[in-house]
Amino acid sequence: MPQYQAVKGARDIFPEESAQWKYVEGVIHTVASLYGFSEIRTPVFEYTELFQRGIGSTTDIVGKEMFSFLPDPNGRSITLRPEMTAGVMRAALQKNILSAAPVHKLYYIGELFRKERPQAGRQRQFSQFGAELLGVSTPAAVAEVITLMMQVFESLGLRNLRLRINSLGDSDDRFRYREALKTYFVPFHDRLDDSSKERLEKNPLRILDSKNPAIQEIVAGAPRLYDYLSVASVEDFEKVLYYLDERGITFEIDHRLVRGLDYYCHTAFEVTSSELGAQDAIGGGGRYDGLARELGSSSEVPASGFAAGMERVLLTMEKQGLFAALTPQGPVVYVVLQQAELADHGMQVAWRLRKAGIRTEIDLAARSMKAQMREANRMRASWALFIGSAEVTTGLYAFKNLVTSEQTTLSLEAVLETLHETASGELQK
Ligand code: AMP
Repeated sequence: MPQYQAVKGARDIFPEESAQWKYVEGVIHTVASLYGFSEIRTPVFEYTELFQRGIGSTTDIVGKEMFSFLPDPNGRSITLRPEMTAGVMRAALQKNILSAAPVHKLYYIGELFRKERPQAGRQRQFSQFGAELLGVSTPAAVAEVITLMMQVFESLGLRNLRLRINSLGDSDDRFRYREALKTYFVPFHDRLDDSSKERLEKNPLRILDSKNPAIQEIVAGAPRLYDYLSVASVEDFEKVLYYLDERGITFEIDHRLVRGLDYYCHTAFEVTSSELGAQDAIGGGGRYDGLARELGSSSEVPASGFAAGMERVLLTMEKQGLFAALTPQGPVVYVVLQQAELADHGMQVAWRLRKAGIRTEIDLAARSMKAQMREANRMRASWALFIGSAEVTTGLYAFKNLVTSEQTTLSLEAVLETLHETASGELQK
């Protein structure tokens, strides 16, 4: 085994796979622009307090999963971002963009870091794409966020996804519900596991999130948040669902879907993929009107957003055979050297072709002509341009169409003309 391995939970993406990433990213950029979202890029690290405030110190992420460090002994602790929303909101508040224009529609693609136990579909460095709609969180805005996410999935061709949705109501609704939950769970106290006991004290809503089957059994009989929603909260939720219905987006209402932090309110949603096994969440989000205040803003910023896991999207696509049509882009022209001594001239020709915008390959390892031709075919080059001593003297090159095997003799200018005529030189194979 080589001496150095990638850090556990981090992985390399080699060219065949990066072509898949580029394709997925392209679809994200295109669909985001259809909905009028613009890209934001924020730093990979932030001051640790931002995440403590912005995600909540009772969460697993902040409690045990952050990569934090002190840049210098007296400095402030810094954390590699474990999610994007806090950073995006921090950036929006810092630049005060909401005073210039009341509504901002932002999306991102970026790397995140969480100290989780690595397993299939769960890494310590992973990527998400997502969107944040800041400044308005009407049902139309929330529905737009959900629709954008679903249209990205649909454009990628993903099948068998489940969208679950719930309403968390407003803080009064949740206050009433939290009390009801406490009353319900107290008689089960002895059967609760340690983390549920702790959650019962700090934030009983989060018990509903438990993955422990024994707890899930107890949770099954718990009161439903929906029954504690005010009329206005129900109306808000119904309107979001109306928009989804109108757009033919299939969803299920899941009364157990909660986000245990106070700044989340009203709509919350999650999408799972049946291809993914234990880690089946592919994306999720919700409305978070309270976050800006939590980060020190003097006024509330109505907001909603979603985040989806890039690796899990790619894994699902792979399993569903959605990359079959993605063939790597080979060179248009392969410059074939008849003798190794002609390499300098060949390099000059290759450079001129590349400068003219033609994808060009040339052998850098002084291999035989036969080996070069084999390579040209393996790379699925459209054309071969031969460099022999006659070519160097006359400036006329043997130029072969590798699909029809037709060959002509042309000056470099005529070669470029031919290539530009056939839609930048690529031949139908
Ligand atoms: P979250 O920010 O936890 O709501 O996660 C949003 C999405 O990011 C999830 O639905 C997953 O698709 C993805 N995700 C979260 N954590 C990981 C991880 N450790 N490794 C890979 N993907 C992840």
